[in-house]
Amino acid sequence: MDGRILIIGAGQAGMQIAVTLRDEGFAGEVTIVGDEAYGPYQRPPLSKAYLAGNSDVESLELRAEHFYTDQAIEMVTGETIVDVRLGEPGSSDAGIATAASGRTFEFDRLAITPGSTPRRLPIEGADLGGVLYLRSLADADALKKRWTAAENLVVIGGGFIGLEVAAAARTAGKTVTVIEVADRLMARAVSSTTSEFYHGAHERRGTRVVLEAQLARIVGDAGQVTGVELAGAGAAKGEFIPADIVMVGIGVIARGELADKLGLDNINGAIVVNEYAETSDPRIVAAGDAVLLPHPLGHDGQVRLESVQNAVDQAKVAAKTLIGIREVHRAVPWFWSDQGDLKLQIAGLSTGFDQIVERGSQESEKFSVLYYRDGRLLAIDAVNDPIDYIAVRRALDTGAEIPAELAADSSVALKTLITSREA
Ligand SMILES: Cc1cc2nc3c(=O)[nH]c(=O)nc-3n(C[C@H](O)[C@H](O)[C@H](O)COP(=O)(O)OP(=O)(O)OC[C@H]3O[C@@H](n4cnc5c(N)ncnc54)[C@H](O)[C@@H]3O)c2cc1C
Repeated sequence: MDGRILIIGAGQAGMQIAVTLRDEGFAGEVTIVGDEAYGPYQRPPLSKAYLAGNSDVESLELRAEHFYTDQAIEMVTGETIVDVRLGEPGSSDAGIATAASGRTFEFDRLAITPGSTPRRLPIEGADLGGVLYLRSLADADALKKRWTAAENLVVIGGGFIGLEVAAAARTAGKTVTVIEVADRLMARAVSSTTSEFYHGAHERRGTRVVLEAQLARIVGDAGQVTGVELAGAGAAKGEFIPADIVMVGIGVIARGELADKLGLDNINGAIVVNEYAETSDPRIVAAGDAVLLPHPLGHDGQVRLESVQNAVDQAKVAAKTLIGIREVHRAVPWFWSDQGDLKLQIAGLSTGFDQIVERGSQESEKFSVLYYRDGRLLAIDAVNDPIDYIAVRRALDTGAEIPAELAADSSVALKTLITSREA
């Protein structure tokens, strides 16, 4: 099969679509267009090793530069696609994508992988110098630029990225305060058991955590941030917290500009796809953070997943769809978050759990939480416990079970408890 495939978005998913197309023997033209100054790179280290100064730009690259020439993949950076016209349905007319610069790209088939963008803080002072977000390498470099001289860091948002940055800042000896509007940390992703452990663990390492906190405004002087002022209820009401850097990590929203332009079904910008990664226009596939997909383990409903695993697995499906291979992949979601010396590994989706089983010991900072619904294994949060994590991931991968009543005994290895669903 030949023809021209255009991929809009040079990130984790876009890159994987191109790689899979070639792996599957697609011999036509493959072009990836991205709006950043760099070719595709890994984002996870931006809030971890890269921020801590333990990795450099080269180590972030998803592929060495020669890969693109070797694989005849055209990689275009620094171009934002602002308009896309499709050919007439059923005709052989080419589609055409136009960049903000006026440059155009013709294609026969289209993939869009625009990723997501940080949710902005709608508050007085949010545009001051030193109020920063973290999505791109450019954002990470802006953060690093202020990092060494900064003494006080305020993190708005107690989710994964905020807590990873907080941990890196504490390790670097800074005074760190995490401000969270909810009543617990990482509330969207983990149970209160895991949240409470992380709350205590961050405080033991010297980070102050303020829950149920409302921000009144961000305060500055001469255009630069000097701190934040709290409002609302609670002991910290009205308090001023000094800050040289205010790092905002309050979640991301799908980049929906192109979905809107193309009239694709979307919910708040998140492009609705089926299990083949097809959008509401069967000529277009989409993958990654910007996508709302059917539950990957076949449960009811749709989910939007913000993870490398999802971007990669979904991209593989999307690439195959583009070249006529109808293949659904049953992908167990997994995710990790390194917060200083605490490694959190999550497999499965815990939404809707009605029972949890805890193993190991929170005191030794090595434990895991298994989630069940109607006695069926759903997911695990493993803290510094890769062995339990791997066992649960394997069980979920193979559609097997780990009986809840047996799992509570930490002296028994989980892998010995894996049983098939029928057993
Ligand atoms: C700081 C940080 C830490 C993370 N840590 C983890 C982690 O520990 N584990 C984990 O699993 N995941 C982590 N993630 C999430 C993970 O990086 C994302 O889920 C993944 O990158 C999603 O891939 P994607 O291809 O959908 O989007 P992206 O990788 O964001 O790629 C999308 C690209 O498309 C570009 N683009 C958008 N619109 C256009 C347009 N119109 N024209 C041209 N280009 C466009 C964007 O600029 C971007 O370069 C982290 C993310 C961040 C930011």
